[in-house]
Amino acid sequence: MKIALSDILISFVLNIIQGNNGDELNNRISIKSIKENSISCARCCYPIPGDKVAGLLTNNGLVLHRFDCGNLLRAKQKHEQWLNVDWHADKDEEFEVLIRIENDNRRGMLASIASAIAKSNVNIEFLEIEESNGSMKGLKLLISVLGISQLDEAIYAIKNLKFVHSVNRVSNKKIVLMALI
Ligand SMILES: [Zn+2]
Repeated sequence: MKIALSDILISFVLNIIQGNNGDELNNRISIKSIKENSISCARCCYPIPGDKVAGLLTNNGLVLHRFDCGNLLRAKQKHEQWLNVDWHADKDEEFEVLIRIENDNRRGMLASIASAIAKSNVNIEFLEIEESNGSMKGLKLLISVLGISQLDEAIYAIKNLKFVHSVNRVSNKKIVLMALI
């Protein structure tokens, strides 16, 4: 099995092998870009720069999770290797994040939400409409953001729409996402 790791990860792995991982300093790394460093974002909690995150060491490299992610907590309980991560992302890197909007079903509602999001320079990747008894209850959107401040800006813009009750970040609980056409 091929394990591709960056220099930072190699030194971390060496620390584990040498039994030095009890030291707090050895359990913390700082990262800037996840592009070429065998680092990826977990698809359960969609961490973005600005979140408190931790990295799980896997055969595919380091996978970042939000600190309160259930999968991360379970991995810690099973004593899998993980480390604290200080994440200062490059300005041009975008990250996917899942949000849920609770709203009244009004005419033109989708267009208004799309326009509010577009004004924050945020892209919509996928959209799922939640229905109950044939009427719409809410929306789940997978959007791309640079970091937490741009996400906050987009959420604020959506919340300002009259027919919107709430906007929250959510974790992926096996939802079926529909491509936005
Ligand atoms: Zn996670």
